[in-house]
Amino acid sequence: MDDYLEQILHLIEAKGYARAVDISKNLGISQASVTNMLQRLDGEGLVKHERYRGTVLTEQGHRIAQAIVERHETLTRFLRLFGLDEETIYHDVEGMEHHVSRATLEVIRVLADSLEKDAELLEKVRQRLS
Ligand code: MN
Repeated sequence: MDDYLEQILHLIEAKGYARAVDISKNLGISQASVTNMLQRLDGEGLVKHERYRGTVLTEQGHRIAQAIVERHETLTRFLRLFGLDEETIYHDVEGMEHHVSRATLEVIRVLADSLEKDAELLEKVRQRLS
């Protein structure tokens, strides 16, 4: 469900609307499954379907999608500090974001902030990795 909301927000930001066919393509999931999920999200008041426009997020859906995207960005920002390759980072973030608790995410956010502000410490950490 998170992946859908994340994808819908990305599509809306890029094109102004989200179509099932684009969600299906971007997530690599059948259009039938996408349609099912959109109905579920609609039932939960997170998206609504507008004729001629496609799927849009409700205010609540938008808020949740925003938090999902922020979580993705925080995890990415953290892992990028250590010189990992982008493919590994993306793959790991896609896995981690489904499991990480709010409390742990906050730890990672503070760690990322702290390491970004302390170049010396970051360099020390990076040296221990190589
Ligand atoms: Mn993600």
